[in-house]
Amino acid sequence: MQNFVLHNPTKIIFGKDRIKALAREIPKEARLMLVYGGGSIKQNGVYDQIRQALEGYSLIEFGGVEPNPDYDTLMQGVELARAQGVDYLLAAGGGSVADGVKFMAAAIPFQGDPMEILTSWGKSIKQAVPFACVLTLPGTGSEMNDGSVISRRSLKAKLVFSSPLVFPQFSILDPVTTFSLPPGQTSNGVVDTFVHIMEQYLTYPVDGKVQDRFAEGLLLTLLEEGPKVLAQPENYDVRANLMWCATLGLNGLIGAGVPQDWATHMVGHELTALYGLDHAQTLAILLPGMMKVRAEQKQQKLLQYAERVWGITSGSDAERIDAAIEKTSAFFELMQVPTRLTGYGLTQECIPAVLEQLQAHGLTALGEQADVTPDLARKALEARL
Ligand code: NAP
Ligand code: FE
Repeated sequence: MQNFVLHNPTKIIFGKDRIKALAREIPKEARLMLVYGGGSIKQNGVYDQIRQALEGYSLIEFGGVEPNPDYDTLMQGVELARAQGVDYLLAAGGGSVADGVKFMAAAIPFQGDPMEILTSWGKSIKQAVPFACVLTLPGTGSEMNDGSVISRRSLKAKLVFSSPLVFPQFSILDPVTTFSLPPGQTSNGVVDTFVHIMEQYLTYPVDGKVQDRFAEGLLLTLLEEGPKVLAQPENYDVRANLMWCATLGLNGLIGAGVPQDWATHMVGHELTALYGLDHAQTLAILLPGMMKVRAEQKQQKLLQYAERVWGITSGSDAERIDAAIEKTSAFFELMQVPTRLTGYGLTQECIPAVLEQLQAHGLTALGEQADVTPDLARKALEARL
């Protein structure tokens, strides 16, 4: 096992009717800004619950944060917050709103051009406004991690940053708030969670037995609960298990002390930036492709995955690996997320543009062994036509 430091300061408040807890957690004198997306919180009752819990607070609002939150939109929120002296932010929504609020939290007090937050991958952040999150879409893990992904459509860019200063103070996870998710977004959350786990699990072995068993347990939970949630969207226990799985999948726990890959995510970001695919859709395409073209290097873990997650024990090494890749993409398809480029109307012609973007963003040596070159990314994409 590798050396590690694990420090996750985010408090999780989990369960039914817990939005009420906001008033206990946020200082009464805070100058608050509630940040949300396109309005789903107004339809599913989350907005009303928040307003009720925060009665008597000084509260302004900033709505309209889009999926794959955009720099220019968020900067409008930053200007408003600065003008109003906001000193506490509350995100209400999915990963896009949470990520957007992380950026705003860092940008509000930032001296200089806030674009540097993104170009420095977060290293230039010296301080951030405290913030909390009411999560309504499980998947990204953003509610309990210090990462954020911001798009800048005018530059066709989707950029990642992280900083220990942008952990949420606390996050409220009420599974009931996820009953209203459209099936496609529920599925996106399951696929995103699955791939987060794989990015930290399917690497070279370092004898991290605890991390492996944790990861496998989370993957098996997704296999069990994923199909159930599509059939029973208002089953509280299914929703609760998926929500907690998503948080544990990317809160530092299973990634501590083991190598981490993230090539699937980074190439996927370019597909979103260029063609507007949902984040999870890009992952459903790319993960099976990456597994295929990196099968040799990842052989030992792929065989472990095949056996422990899918129960595949017969056949040659190559056959078991192929079967595990097949099962993985079949699971995504079962969740109704297409796993081929053509499933989104994309052809071979999109591939050179993705490779160009990878070059332009300096993403030429991805993965835990820095061996995912644009050429290897090309092969992974070609395997998914
Ligand atoms: P999202 O973009 O936050 O939300 C997708 C859609 O779902 C929005 O239209 C949203 O509506 C709607 N929605 C959310 N909750 C709902 C509910 N309870 N009922 C009905 N509709 C609801 O989706 P996401 O998958 O959570 O976030 C994707 C972003 O996170 C991407 O930019 C991705 O790159 C990033 N990401 C971040 C991390 C990280 O660690 N920080 C990890 C992976 C991915 P509203 O707009 O009305 O809210
Ligand atoms: Fe993700």
